[in-house]
Amino acid sequence: MKFRSTRQLEESIEFCQALERGIAPDGGLYVPVCFPEFATRDFDGAERLDDVAEVLLEPFLQGSGLLPELGAICQEAFSFPTPLRMLESDGKRLFVLELFHGPTAAFKDVGARFLAACFQRLNREDPRPLTILVATSGDTGGAVAAAFHGRVGTRVVVLFPRGLVSARQEKQLTCWGGNVHALRVAGNFDDCQGMVKQAFADAELCRRTRLSSANSINLGRLLPQSAYYAASSLVHWREHGELLNFVVPTGNLGNGLACVWARAMGLPIGKIVFATNANRPIPEYLATGQWTPGPSVATLASAMDVGNPSNMERLRDLLPDIESVRGAVSAYSVDDDAIRSQIARDFHRRGETWCPHTATAASVYDGLPESMRDGSWALVATAHPAKFETIVEPLIGQPVPVPASLAGLLDMPSHVQDVAASLDELKQVIEKK
Ligand SMILES: *Cc1c(COP(=O)(O)O)cnc(C)c1O
Repeated sequence: MKFRSTRQLEESIEFCQALERGIAPDGGLYVPVCFPEFATRDFDGAERLDDVAEVLLEPFLQGSGLLPELGAICQEAFSFPTPLRMLESDGKRLFVLELFHGPTAAFKDVGARFLAACFQRLNREDPRPLTILVATSGDTGGAVAAAFHGRVGTRVVVLFPRGLVSARQEKQLTCWGGNVHALRVAGNFDDCQGMVKQAFADAELCRRTRLSSANSINLGRLLPQSAYYAASSLVHWREHGELLNFVVPTGNLGNGLACVWARAMGLPIGKIVFATNANRPIPEYLATGQWTPGPSVATLASAMDVGNPSNMERLRDLLPDIESVRGAVSAYSVDDDAIRSQIARDFHRRGETWCPHTATAASVYDGLPESMRDGSWALVATAHPAKFETIVEPLIGQPVPVPASLAGLLDMPSHVQDVAASLDELKQVIEKK
C-alpha cells in the first residue's frame, strides 16, 4: 500500500517512509491511496484486539519492511484491553468504549505504543540512537514517554512548560528516567514547541543526530486507532447483528477520523458523531459549510482545546464536499457548564464518573434528537477521570480511585532537568552521550 499527501504535490511513498516523515514535504498529511475493503467474516477467528489489529493493518504494511513484524508490533502496542461495557439495555442499548486502561490512562497510549514499536524497528543498523522530540502541554508527552521508555536504540526528550501542567501530569512526564529526558522549560507551551521547531530547522544538528517527532498527525499514531473501532464494532455485531454508532470526543480529530476510516473499510459501524468542547470549528463547518479555524479557547476538556484541527484536512480529502461530510458525520459542541453538569448528573444518575473529555460525549449523546438515538450507541471514553481529579472530585463530592497503573507512576521518583527556553540548552541535552 502506498500513501500520498493530501495536497497531492508529492510522489506516493510506503508506510515506513510516511512514518519517518510525519508530515509530507508539501505540508500535507499522509493518507492511504485507497482503503482496503473488509467483510465482517474476514475477521473470523480474530477475537482479541491485537488479532483484529493485525488483520486490519496488514494491507497498509504490504510492500513495507515492517510487514513481517506486524504481529509482534500489534502484540506490543495492543497489550491492554479496550472493553465495550454496557451502560443501559432497556429499549436502547448504550455502551461505553473504555480506551483508558493503558500505562498513562488515556487513549493516546494506543497510537504512541504502535508508533514506538514501529520506530524501534526502523533503521536498526544505524548506530546513532533515534531521538524523539516532543513538546507537550500535558497528555501527549506522557503517552509518548511511556511508549518509548526502555526501548533499545531510542531516546525521548520531552519538553513541558514549568508550572503549567498539573501535578499528576508532571509526574507522568518525569517518572521515567533511563532513555527519557524530561525538560521543564522556563516558558509556556509555545516556547516548548518553538524549541522543537528550531531543533528540526537546525541542519547541522539534524545531520549529526537522528531526530524524529511523534506528533499526532503521524500516520503511525492515527491508523492503529482504527483497530479499537473495528474490534468493538465486531464484538457488538457478533452479539447483536447490528451496527454500532459512536460518539467520539474530538479535538484534533485523530480519534474521530480513525472511526470514519474504520467504517470506510467496511467495519459494522453506523452513525458517527463528533463531540467538541467550546472549540467549535467542526460543528460550525457542518452547520454553515464554512471552514473557519481560529485560535483555541481554554476549556475543562483541555486535551481537546484545538482551534484548527489538523485532521480536518484528511477528512475533507476522503469527503471532498460539504454534503458528503454531512451525510457521513455529525458534530455538536458543549460548553464547560454542560461538562460540569454532565459529570455531576451521570455520577448520581448512572453511578459513572467521566473525565471532562468523556463528559462531552455523554452530554452530546443526551442531547441528540430522539429519532437519532435509535439503535446501539457507544460513548468513547478517552481518559480515566483520575487524571483530571481537580475538576472531577469537587463535582462528585468524593475522591476518584486511582487505577493501579497510574498509581504506580505517581509513586516513582522524578527525573527532571530545568532549562531556559533556548535552543542551546536543548542541543546540549540532545548531543550528550
Ligand atoms: C487528545 C485527547 C482527545 C482528543 O483527541 P483527538 O484525536 O485530538 O481528537 C480527547 N480526550 C483526551 C483525553 C485526549 O487526550
